[in-house]
Amino acid sequence: MEKFNKNLKNNNKNMQNDENFSKNDINFKKSLGQNFLFDTNLLNAIVSDGDVESNDLVLEIGAGAGTLTKALAMKAKKVISFEIDKSLIPILESRKKECPNIEFYFQDFMDAEIDNLFEGKARVVANIPYYITTPIVFRLVQKLEKFKSIMVLVQKEVAERFASPHGTKDYGTTSIILQSIFEVSIPRIVRKECFIPPPKVDSALCKLVPHNKYQISDFKSFKDFVHLSFSMRRKTLVNNLKSLYDKDKVVNVLQQFGYNANTRPEDISVENFIKIFKNL
Ligand code: SAM
Repeated sequence: MEKFNKNLKNNNKNMQNDENFSKNDINFKKSLGQNFLFDTNLLNAIVSDGDVESNDLVLEIGAGAGTLTKALAMKAKKVISFEIDKSLIPILESRKKECPNIEFYFQDFMDAEIDNLFEGKARVVANIPYYITTPIVFRLVQKLEKFKSIMVLVQKEVAERFASPHGTKDYGTTSIILQSIFEVSIPRIVRKECFIPPPKVDSALCKLVPHNKYQISDFKSFKDFVHLSFSMRRKTLVNNLKSLYDKDKVVNVLQQFGYNANTRPEDISVENFIKIFKNL
């Protein structure tokens, strides 16, 4: 990492970088997933992918050097941004001088009190560390009523898992749970070379927009049902559900929706999963 820091000046010559800022001042912490974006064209494109408009309140998780924070603040009404690494305070304070509509919280987002943080609904736009992606996304999902949309930049394979349709190898519990609530799309792939320092793998923006397509009154039971359905991926749905549901009843319900006793969970669409859950 030190060697990398010394070579920063030579990196990414083609990027349009933020002129007010010296990257050499940063001690990038791998343990906090600190891979930052500095290319203003890319940052502005991300803001645009997130549908951020002038009356929007944006919640950002992981400000880093505040480059995305600034791009968001130039477009939005207000940005509330969390950063766990207090060594970034001086850099981020200077961002706040440039853009007074930014409010920073220097704390772990997982401990943040979201309920009273802001009035109305916010958009989430965040480049989040790979090791905490799923907990952060599910924390946001729990407070769904507070958000218009959630767009996270995550490892490409994670985004693909979130967005994958039934019948594909990536389709599983997370895909079904998220797609039962959101329209899930991948508006942009961000190659690893765009980050400083570059991570090992490419990333992708994953956009989650609530669709209100399905009424699931007991969402916790639905989540448990989906987890049980995939408890053994290679087994049939009937086999996975046998600890809780009568086999004949499951077969009967499967047949109602065009499946049979040999159907595997990954071959059932989100819509049909919800129907099967409701019928059982
Ligand atoms: N937004 C910046 C960008 O796009 O260049 C930085 C993104 S970097 C991938 C993720 C940032 O999240 C790091 O600055 C890291 O310190 C911060 N972070 C990691 N865990 C966090 C947590 N639990 N709460 C708040 N920030 C966290």
